[in-house]
Amino acid sequence: MNMIDKENVPANARIIKTYSGRRKSKKLASDGTPLTVENVVKPFILSDDDYKKIMDVMLDSFNQGLGKETNAKAAVKMFPTYVRSVPDGTETGKVLALDLGGTNFRILLISLDGQEVNMESKIFLIPQAIMTGTGEQLFDHIAECIHKFMKDHDLLFHKIPLGFTFSFPCRQEGLNKAILTHWTKGFKCAGVEGHDIVQLLHEAIERRGDIDVNCLAVINDTVGALMSCAHEDRKCAVGLILGTGTNACYIETLENTELWDGDTDEPHQVMINTEWGALGNDGSLDFIMTDYDKQVDKHSINAGQQIYEKMISGMYMGEIARLVIEKLRKAKLLFNGKGSEELSERGRFYTKYVSEIESDGDDSSFKCTKQVFAELNLTKYTDEDCRIVQYVCSLVSTRAAYLASAGIATLLNKMNRPEVTIGVDGSLYRFHPHFHDLMEEKIRQLVKPGIKFKLMLSHDGSGKGAAIVTAVANRLALEKEQKLNAKNGIPNGE
Ligand code: ADP
Ligand code: MG
Repeated sequence: MNMIDKENVPANARIIKTYSGRRKSKKLASDGTPLTVENVVKPFILSDDDYKKIMDVMLDSFNQGLGKETNAKAAVKMFPTYVRSVPDGTETGKVLALDLGGTNFRILLISLDGQEVNMESKIFLIPQAIMTGTGEQLFDHIAECIHKFMKDHDLLFHKIPLGFTFSFPCRQEGLNKAILTHWTKGFKCAGVEGHDIVQLLHEAIERRGDIDVNCLAVINDTVGALMSCAHEDRKCAVGLILGTGTNACYIETLENTELWDGDTDEPHQVMINTEWGALGNDGSLDFIMTDYDKQVDKHSINAGQQIYEKMISGMYMGEIARLVIEKLRKAKLLFNGKGSEELSERGRFYTKYVSEIESDGDDSSFKCTKQVFAELNLTKYTDEDCRIVQYVCSLVSTRAAYLASAGIATLLNKMNRPEVTIGVDGSLYRFHPHFHDLMEEKIRQLVKPGIKFKLMLSHDGSGKGAAIVTAVANRLALEKEQKLNAKNGIPNGE
C-alpha cells in the first residue's frame, strides 16, 4: 500500500474521536462490570488537567537536566550542542552527510549555494545483525557504504568534508566529538556507549585506507530539522522529530545552560538537544502509563528507558494499537473473538497501518482498513469491527500527538518568544493523516496566550541540516588555517 502523504490526505479524512457501539463482553473489567470497548480504551483519553500535569513534569525535568547540580540524576539530559546560530542563508560548499536515525541509514551529497540546495542521496540497509552486533562491525559497514557512495559519484579521489546526523543520545564535547551515552530505538552495538562516535568512524575509515573524508560535525536529527527550516524561516527555534523515536531541540540562553563549557561570545545562546524521549524514566509519567505501554516497555530491548518516546513514536505506536485490538478481540468485542497468527505477532501491526486505517475517515466502504485486515489475514469482520479498529487507532495516535504537543507547549512557554516556528521531521508526522492538525489544536490550547507558533515540515532536515552546520565549520576551519598561515608567512593555497 502506498504511504499517505500529508498533501494528499483524502477530503473525507476525519478525526475519529467517538464510538457509540454497545458491544459487551462476557469478560469483566477490574471493577466487576462487563468489559466494553469504552472501558478498554478509556486509559488513552487524558484530560486537560492530565496534559497540564505532564507539562509541569516536563518543565521540571527540563530544568533538572539544565542544572549543574541536578543533571547527573536527571532523566532528561538536555545536552548542549555546539550549534549556536541559525543559518544566515549564505552557506556554500559541497558536503557529504550521513543520516543514521533508527530505521534508515542514508548518505547524501549536498551542494549548498545560498538558498540553492541540491542533493543526491541513497538509502543503505543496516542489517539487524549489525544493529545488535559490535561497534566495529557497524562502523566498518558505514565506511563501506561511504566508499560505495563515493565511487558511484566519482568522488573517490576528492577530499570532502562530512557531517554526521547521528540521532542517539550523545554528550558532545565539541562539534565533532560526541560520546554516545546509550543506544535507543532497537540499536545495541557493543563497545560504542561511552565512546566518541567520530573517532570510531575515523578509525573505520582508516582501516579501509581508500577514502579521504573528515567528519567535521555531528548533529542530532532535531538540530537538522531546526537548521533546515531556519534556512527558510529565521523564526525557527525548535526542532522536533516524530519518526522511529521522538526528540526535540530548542534554542536556550547560555545563562540557563549551566553545563555550558564553551566560549561565551555572541550569540549568548546554544541549541539544546533535550533527548526528551527519556522523560518518565524516573517514574514521573507512571500516572498516565496504561497496561499496554507497560507491555511495550517490558518487551523492548531497553526496558525502563525512553518511556515518553514509547508512548508516542513510530517504533511503538502500531504495537500499542495491536495490544489494544488483541485485548478487545480476546474479550470477543472484535472479530467475534477470531484473530489471526499475524495479529498475534509482536510488532506485526505496523505504525503505517494506523495512518492507513485512519485515512479512511468517513469512507463507509472502509477501503484502507479492509486492505490492512487483508494484510493481517483477517477475513471475517463486520463494519462495526472496522469502526472499532479505527477508533482504537485514532485514540492511540491522538494521545501520541497530544503528548508531543504538551512537550512543544512546554518549550514554547519556557522560551517565551512571541513567535516561533517549529521544524518537524519524521515519517510519523509526515504520513499520519491528522498528526499535524491534532498538534496545532493541542499546542494552541496549552501555550501561553499571545505566543504565536507554526509547525513546518522539514524537507530532508537530517541531510540539509548536517550540510549547513558542516559547511559553516569547514569555512571557519579554512579561515583559521589561512590566518595561521598568514601569521607564519606561508602563502595561502599551499
Ligand atoms: P528515522 O526516525 O529512523 O529517521 P523515519 O522518520 O522514516 O526514520 O521514521 C520511521 C518510523 O516511521 C518507523 O517507526 C515507522 O513505523 C514509521 N512510519 C513509516 N511510515 C509511516 C506512516 N505511513 N505512518 C505513520 N508512521 C510511519
Ligand atoms: Mg530521520
